[in-house]
Amino acid sequence: MICKNCNSENTQKLSLIYENGTNNISTNSKTVGVGLGTGGIGIGRASTNTSGTSQSILAQKLSPPKKNSYLLAVFVMVLGTIFLCNVYELSIKDFILGLIGIFLLGFGIKIFRVNYRYNSNTFPKKYLEWTKSWHCNKCGNIYSE
Ligand SMILES: [Zn+2]
Repeated sequence: MICKNCNSENTQKLSLIYENGTNNISTNSKTVGVGLGTGGIGIGRASTNTSGTSQSILAQKLSPPKKNSYLLAVFVMVLGTIFLCNVYELSIKDFILGLIGIFLLGFGIKIFRVNYRYNSNTFPKKYLEWTKSWHCNKCGNIYSE
């Protein structure tokens, strides 16, 4: 794939850069130490575990689009439910609590629907676009096939 900007052949698919630049680290190093003391010979052992993900800056920059989280929507809905669960009697205070609860529930459902629409319509398109995108290692241009 030749860069559309500078005609360089030094180009790579975004997905490839991302995969190559993202490494899962899982190392286990054991150290054994032998110490000689007045009481004899002592052996000490230590084990260190390192795990996680390391990412190059370029891989981070060219990472695939993410789905929207439902966390906020769920949080707002739970909050609304808590308000509604505190309505006990026919009073102004509980009436207001109920109103806030209903408002929050409705608001949470609204956020949920917006996220759901993004995840089921917009996200797949963006992701597909990402899988078809290339990065020029010479000029940094990002373009699609
Ligand atoms: Zn280029």
